[in-house]
Amino acid sequence: MLVVALTGGIGSGKSLAGEYFSQLGAIVVDSDQLARDVIERGSDGFDEVVARFGDEILSNGDIDRKKLGAIVFSDPQALTDLEGITHPRIQAAFAAIVEEALEDSIVINQIPLLIETGGVDRFDRVVVLLSDLEIRKERLKARGMTTNEIDRRLNAQASDEDRLDMADYIIENNGSTDDLLREVEETYRVLLLENHS
Ligand code: ADP
Repeated sequence: MLVVALTGGIGSGKSLAGEYFSQLGAIVVDSDQLARDVIERGSDGFDEVVARFGDEILSNGDIDRKKLGAIVFSDPQALTDLEGITHPRIQAAFAAIVEEALEDSIVINQIPLLIETGGVDRFDRVVVLLSDLEIRKERLKARGMTTNEIDRRLNAQASDEDRLDMADYIIENNGSTDDLLREVEETYRVLLLENHS
């Protein structure tokens, strides 16, 4: 088994690359999805977040991630508290998926904040997606984000230079989606070889 992190800045193409890896046969886990799952209504994560931040973060009984985001982006202590609740649960959820996977699987975790959360050691390999900042901004605008939202997210993330220090493999995503698919295929081929050596 090979447990691989797929990381990169927002808009670098993690979700799309993850989809391609999945089509090729990898087990792909989206950390953003896990982050939503661990604070879903009915979970103990939900209870802890509401106990810490109060009912005002709820909309129709569910945690409103926009409201929560507004609080933690302007208050570092609040962010630390939230991460103290969510990160161990996200890691446990991922570990459970790895546990259940077949012995020769390639398990890929799409994870935006790998460096920021100090998680590099938990992975056998790190794949970093690189994409020019201007292209990423255009993609995010096309996805409906405002310039403000984009800049705020970008400022909260590590830089490509930091990510490159962790990279075992680099995938560039500045061309077409077909170009990306070919890059993913090439990386997957190498991962398969490594997994069987
Ligand atoms: P991330 O998960 O890293 O934030 P996404 O995979 O969601 O990035 O990509 C951001 C947006 O850009 C998505 O709408 C995606 O479909 C699009 N996209 C990604 N790569 C390309 C590409 N090479 N060509 C065109 N659109 C792309």
